[in-house]
Amino acid sequence: MPVGSTPSVHLIHVVEEEATWQGHSMSFTLQPIPVRRPARGRAEAALECARCGLPVWLRIRSARATVRRRRAWLSMALLSWVVAPSPLVAWELVPQLMFSLSNEQTLSVIGGSLLLFFFGLFALIRFMIEDGVRMSEGGRRWRAVRDGCHGLRRVPR
Ligand SMILES: [Zn+2]
Repeated sequence: MPVGSTPSVHLIHVVEEEATWQGHSMSFTLQPIPVRRPARGRAEAALECARCGLPVWLRIRSARATVRRRRAWLSMALLSWVVAPSPLVAWELVPQLMFSLSNEQTLSVIGGSLLLFFFGLFALIRFMIEDGVRMSEGGRRWRAVRDGCHGLRRVPR
């Protein structure tokens, strides 16, 4: 996915959020972010929400910094998936290892492998959606969403 000169994520203003037995539904307005990326590093920019008129502060990375971010996520995913099955490989190569562990130890090793596997999955998803944009003002991204206001969403071009 190429990194555009402006972000491809959109600003959302959550209008309504509902949790039902069928799942979670959310209605929101979408607004593109027409802010050019800085040449290097990252820059702060305020975007006026088209729905409520409030300024939303964003931290936008340069194209190069965004690519670096994506590579970091991908490396973390690959590294997790290389390391995650290593206990199984070790047991295959040295079967006595498995018998030298107590049940609890075996469980925690397997649990650790699963955790790494899921972290790898998380990192892969971050790699795919990373666009170098964060909501700013001290990492209040999730709170802003919970307050029923703003967030970021990736929209297919
Ligand atoms: Zn708004």
